[in-house]
Amino acid sequence: QKQLVLLIEDFIERETSRELDRDCDENERFPIELNDKLAATGLYGLPFPREYGGTGGSTVDFCLATETLAKGSDAACALFLLPVFFAGEMILNNGSEEQKHRYLPEIVAGRFKGCFALTEPEVGSDASRVKTRAVADGDEFVINGHKTLISGAEIADTIMTVTRTDPDVNRYEGMSILMIPRETPGITINKLKKLGGRIISTCEIFFDDVRVSSELILGGPEALNQGWPQLLKQLDIERIMMGALHVAIA
Ligand SMILES: Cc1cc2nc3c(=O)[nH]c(=O)nc-3n(C[C@H](O)[C@H](O)[C@H](O)COP(=O)(O)OP(=O)(O)OC[C@H]3O[C@@H](n4cnc5c(N)ncnc54)[C@H](O)[C@@H]3O)c2cc1C
Repeated sequence: QKQLVLLIEDFIERETSRELDRDCDENERFPIELNDKLAATGLYGLPFPREYGGTGGSTVDFCLATETLAKGSDAACALFLLPVFFAGEMILNNGSEEQKHRYLPEIVAGRFKGCFALTEPEVGSDASRVKTRAVADGDEFVINGHKTLISGAEIADTIMTVTRTDPDVNRYEGMSILMIPRETPGITINKLKKLGGRIISTCEIFFDDVRVSSELILGGPEALNQGWPQLLKQLDIERIMMGALHVAIA
């Protein structure tokens, strides 16, 4: 763990600066030019087992990395979190074997970023009230709804979208998470204005008759309506990660 911290501190010393952070924040831009360099350190694979190309780090390692990055550079921390946390942890903890083998090595290589779309204009703390609807149509789902306050949506490759797939059961039992490619027709993304923290954008997303294959249910088609327990796993690790992040900022 000491070596991990040294590796990150060395990266921050060599590749980042206050000017970079300021430039990214003032110009509301993601520091994509550092992506390949951060990927080359192996950090994008930190929490993933070796069979998916990662280095098998623990939750403590993940938090140490987040804390060290956040302390040193907002830009580097943003680069790390979008792929590794928003996409990677979600797929690692809930994905099917096929999805893990397909996406996790892409994340390790710096070629895949995700965002996590739970919040809606009228759905915040009580996540079980999600209204965004996904209706089965043959082997596909048709999605309609509105998400807001979604971090990094406009640069994510895939939007991990919390949807309601069965409105007729207990509200904890009718949710599914769909991995919706950002370029899918029917998706509109708008960046919201913010006072700070602008390196990762905060966006609203509209889904208008967006069609995706049922293969894109997180966990595969057999994980239909398993969204609530999947969500809780993600929020557990998110709360711990957020703690580490904000200790660093403080
Ligand atoms: C910068 C930023 C980035 C974000 N990124 C994402 C993202 O990537 N993906 C995503 O899905 N969401 C994201 N969010 C949304 C965030 O998760 C929500 O803001 C959060 O879930 C709270 O929802 P809300 O803002 O509607 O507040 P509300 O749910 O309306 O809560 C308002 C206040 O009331 C309190 N409260 C609520 N219910 C109760 C209760 N039953 N008892 C007592 N107190 C209560 C809350 O603690 C809070 O203080 C982001 C938000 C911000 C500000």
